[in-house]
Amino acid sequence: MSLAFDEYGRPFIIIREQEKQSRVKGIEAVKSNIQAAKAVSRVLRTSLGPKGMDKLLQGPDGDIVITNDGATILEQMEVEHQVGKLLVELSKSQDHEIGDGTTGVTVLAGSLLEQAESLLDRGIHPLRIAEGYEMACKIATAELERISTRFDFGTGTKEDLEPLIKTCMTTLSSKIVGRYKRPLAEMCVEAVLTVADLERKDVNLDLIKLDGKVGGRLEDSRLVQGVILDKDMSHPQMPKELHDVKIAILTCPFEPPKPKTKHKVDIDTVEKFEALRGAEKAYFTDMVRACKASGATLVVCQWGFDDEANHLLMHEGLPAVRWVGGVEIELLALATGARIVPRFQELDASKLGSAALVKEVSFGTTRDRMLLVEGCPGSRAVTLFVRGGNKMVLEETKRSLHDALCVARNLVRDNRVVYGGGAAEMACSLAVEAAAERVGGVEQYAMRAFADALDVIPLSLAENSGLAPIASLTEVKTRQLTEGDPHLGIDCNDLGTNDMRAQNVFETLAGKRQQLQLATQVCKMILKIDDVIKPNEYA
Ligand code: ADP
Ligand code: MG
Repeated sequence: MSLAFDEYGRPFIIIREQEKQSRVKGIEAVKSNIQAAKAVSRVLRTSLGPKGMDKLLQGPDGDIVITNDGATILEQMEVEHQVGKLLVELSKSQDHEIGDGTTGVTVLAGSLLEQAESLLDRGIHPLRIAEGYEMACKIATAELERISTRFDFGTGTKEDLEPLIKTCMTTLSSKIVGRYKRPLAEMCVEAVLTVADLERKDVNLDLIKLDGKVGGRLEDSRLVQGVILDKDMSHPQMPKELHDVKIAILTCPFEPPKPKTKHKVDIDTVEKFEALRGAEKAYFTDMVRACKASGATLVVCQWGFDDEANHLLMHEGLPAVRWVGGVEIELLALATGARIVPRFQELDASKLGSAALVKEVSFGTTRDRMLLVEGCPGSRAVTLFVRGGNKMVLEETKRSLHDALCVARNLVRDNRVVYGGGAAEMACSLAVEAAAERVGGVEQYAMRAFADALDVIPLSLAENSGLAPIASLTEVKTRQLTEGDPHLGIDCNDLGTNDMRAQNVFETLAGKRQQLQLATQVCKMILKIDDVIKPNEYA
C-alpha cells in the first residue's frame, strides 16, 4: 500500500494487487484445518444436553427443519470446508453405529482439536500429539469399562425393565418431546423387546417402523403390534374390518392390459366399443377370480387400478388396497410372511401372507384413515405411530424416537451403562490425568490435553443449563476425586443432587466408548493432514 498524489495534489491510496494467495502447507495447514473443524463443532455446543437449544435449518427449497440432533444439524448445514466435512462424517458414523450421542462426539472432537492447537503452538509435533491422544483414549475407554454398571432385564417383569426405560428417557430428555418422555420411552422399550432376539442379543430395527401423521397430539401416539398402511380400502363399500385375512401382495399391474401405443385400435361403432369394453371386463373379472381362487381375501397392490376395476372388485367381494409404497410393501411382506408377486401368473396359495386382523381406523376427529394389520405370524414387526401438531414436530419426534430405539437396542446388545451428565467424562479425565504422570515422554502433554478436552462435555452441559461452568466443573470434579465416586455429574435440571444414579441419567457404555474412539480417531486424522489439495491445484 502506498500513498500518491494526483495532478491536482489530492492524495490517493494505491493498493497493490493482492499477491496470488498461496496454498497453506505444513503446520499452517494443520492449524487452519483445526480452525475449520472447531467452527463446525462450536455450532453444536449449545445444543448439547437436556437444556440444549434447538436449531432451525432452512433447506434449499425454503423448507425448514427444527432439530436438536447433531447428525441432522450437520447433515443439513451444507458444510463447504473439506475438513469440516470430516466432522459431518464423524457424527454420521456415530449415528450409524450407535444412534445417539451425535452432538457429544462432535463437541468432543472440537475440544480435542482446540487443545491440540495450543500444543502445536508450544512446538510439539502433530504426530506426537496424535500418539498421546491414542494412549489417552485407551486409558479413558478402560476407565469407562471399569466404572460401568451392568443390569439384567432377563425375566421381563416391569421392574426389570426400569433401567432400560430410564436410559431411553435420558436420551429423550434433551429433545422437544422431553415433556412426554416416560410414555414414549416405555413405547420404545416395548417395541424393541417385541422384536428383540434375546438369545442372540440382537435387534433388527428394520422391523420397527416409525410412522406418523400430522394432526392430533403427541399423547395420541401409540405402539401398534403390526403394520400400519397409510391407505384405506380402495372402495368405500368394502368391509372395514377383516378377520383371518389371507393377503396377496402384487407388484404387477392389476388391471386389463392397456393397448400399447404402437398398436392401433379402430373403434368407429358403438358395437366395437362395447366389444372392447366387454373384453376388458371379462379379462379383469378373470384376474379377480384367479385371485379369489388362490384363497386371497385381501389384495394389496403397488400400482393403481381404475374406478371400473375398483367397482368390479367390490362387486366380486374382494377387498383391495391400491398405491402402497415399496417400503411398506416390503414390511408388510416381512410381517405377514407373504411373498411379493411380481407376475400375476405366479400367484398361488403358497404366496399368500396372513394376518389375524386388518382394520380400517380413523384417528381423532380428522378424516384420515389408515389400515392396521395386526396379529401377523411371520414376524413381530411393530409400528410406532406418532402424532404431532405439525410436520416439524413430527419429524423431530421421529428422529428422537429413533435415538431412543437405538439406545434400547444397544442395551440389548450390551447391557452395560455409564452415568451421564458429564460424570463419565470427568471420571475418564481424572484417570487420564493420573496416567499422564507416569508417562515420561512428550506424550504426557498430549495426554493432559486430552484430559482437559474431556471437560468440555460437563462444561457445555453446565453452560447450557445456565450454571457457572468452571465453578460447577471444579466442584463436581473435586468431589469425584475426593470421594472416588464416578456417578457425580452436572445437575442440569437443578434437582439438588449431583448423583446421576439418583437422577437416573444413564448412557450406554457402547455409545460413550464409541464417542471417545471416534473423536480421537478423527482428531488424529486431522492432525496428520499437512496439505489440502484441490482438483486444479496440483503443484
Ligand atoms: P447427543 O446428540 O450427543 O446425544 P444430547 O443433546 O442428547 O446430545 O445430550 C446428551 C448429553 O446430555 C449427555 O452427555 C447426557 O449425559 C446429558 N444429559 C441428558 N439428560 C441429562 C440430565 N437429566 N441431567 C444431566 N445431563 C443429562
Ligand atoms: Mg442424545
